[in-house]
Amino acid sequence: MESYLYTCQYCSKEYKPNRRKKQKYCSNSCRVRSFKIRNTQTKNLPVKVSQDSEKLKIEKMSFAGIGNAALGTLAVNLATNLLSNDENKPATKKDLKNLITSLKQRYYPILNIPVRRDGAKAYFDMESKSLVYFKQK
Ligand SMILES: [Zn+2]
Repeated sequence: MESYLYTCQYCSKEYKPNRRKKQKYCSNSCRVRSFKIRNTQTKNLPVKVSQDSEKLKIEKMSFAGIGNAALGTLAVNLATNLLSNDENKPATKKDLKNLITSLKQRYYPILNIPVRRDGAKAYFDMESKSLVYFKQK
């Protein structure tokens, strides 16, 4: 004899079970409705997965955004450093020579462009991907 009251897992109503075995619902209709809801949830699972992958895409995009922002900051910092260096020290011929020597990896002489009238030679700037002229005396 069961005096214990079960709680229906669908409508949360307390009920007296008519069978001694595992009974989760107060009535047949609750059992059926609960089963239907579980069924729909199972059917919705693929949708949930695609929502997650969309979320992943968005996260990847924002990561890319952060990367671009970081690069932008880096570029600004580099430009600021270069500018402040140029402003603080008036460049001498020796400085320029040293600069060109130290930046050999950046600037490559372009041999098929004639030397400019003022004696400056053409170089290819690997960083800005453009043609630059330097005077070397
Ligand atoms: Zn119920």
